Amino acid sequence: MTSDIWCLKGELPFEAIAGLEAAIEELAEETGVFPPTLSYFEQKPGEPWIVEVFFPEAPEPGFVEALLERAGSDDWVESFEAVEEKDWVAESQKLLEPVTAGRFFVFGSHDADKAKPDSVNLLIDAGQAFGTGKHETTAACLEVLDSLAAEIAPARMLDLGTGSGVLALATQKVWPAAEIVASDIDPIAIEVTAENIDINHGVGRTAGTRGAGIAVVVAPGLDDPAFADEGPFDLITANILAGPLIELAADITGVLAPGGTLVLSGLLVTQEKEVLAPYQAQGLDTQGRVEKGEWLALVLRKP
Ligand code: SAH
Repeated sequence: MTSDIWCLKGELPFEAIAGLEAAIEELAEETGVFPPTLSYFEQKPGEPWIVEVFFPEAPEPGFVEALLERAGSDDWVESFEAVEEKDWVAESQKLLEPVTAGRFFVFGSHDADKAKPDSVNLLIDAGQAFGTGKHETTAACLEVLDSLAAEIAPARMLDLGTGSGVLALATQKVWPAAEIVASDIDPIAIEVTAENIDINHGVGRTAGTRGAGIAVVVAPGLDDPAFADEGPFDLITANILAGPLIELAADITGVLAPGGTLVLSGLLVTQEKEVLAPYQAQGLDTQGRVEKGEWLALVLRKP
């Protein structure tokens, strides 16, 4: 059975998605049409992302053509059709299910009544930034943070590639006194992180000030003076992809304090050796690993 929901689907490099998003917003505003919903997810590191634009009903004639023209190209589109109702419901449910990882319970606002008294509850709605806990790489990091809680007491902490801010918030819930930096290359992620800090009654802070709280920074990798001011960090989480993790090995190790712990995630099990090598070359030791499906999180320590 088909529904009234229409889906424009294809594959785009990650860098091209922002252009499509801007085109959707502009065109919806100009035409007064309710904007379709953009969703995108990664298949494998380095491959194009799967992009879906959902229309609540069949779009006005010409809308999709105008959108594709504005977005610059239509050669990425693979299909445009009414969505099977069954699949749509199942898919959206799957995305919205709450996740339990260690002591953490991550849920969307539609499940607000399910928050658990014995869990560390994090309300993160699926939206424009990555990190609802649903993805294996995030869940693996949450499990690592859960087990580190008994072992370390970091005073300064960095969440590099914070996305929705989920790991920075998890850290603050475990170590409320920590001075935390949450950074991302994507300004939208940082906006979402700031909102999620408020929603979860987290404590925010301006970068450069001392004291408990999460300071947000927009920066590619460690390319911002804020990191030198804020560091060195006793705990760093970096759930990005194998490529940037390898490229950033020296920079990340540079801001890790002696005795500090580094959690790397976003790599595939098959990429373990190639990601570890540059960190071993920087003198770090492996302390642990958590496998989730084909994904792997690594826990390293600086002597
Ligand atoms: N930490 C969250 C989000 C992970 S998704 C979680 O664990 O769920 C990875 C995030 O890293 C994205 O938001 C992306 O914008 C960001 N990112 C990718 N490359 C980056 C880089 N070189 N520097 C900073 N952030 C980066």
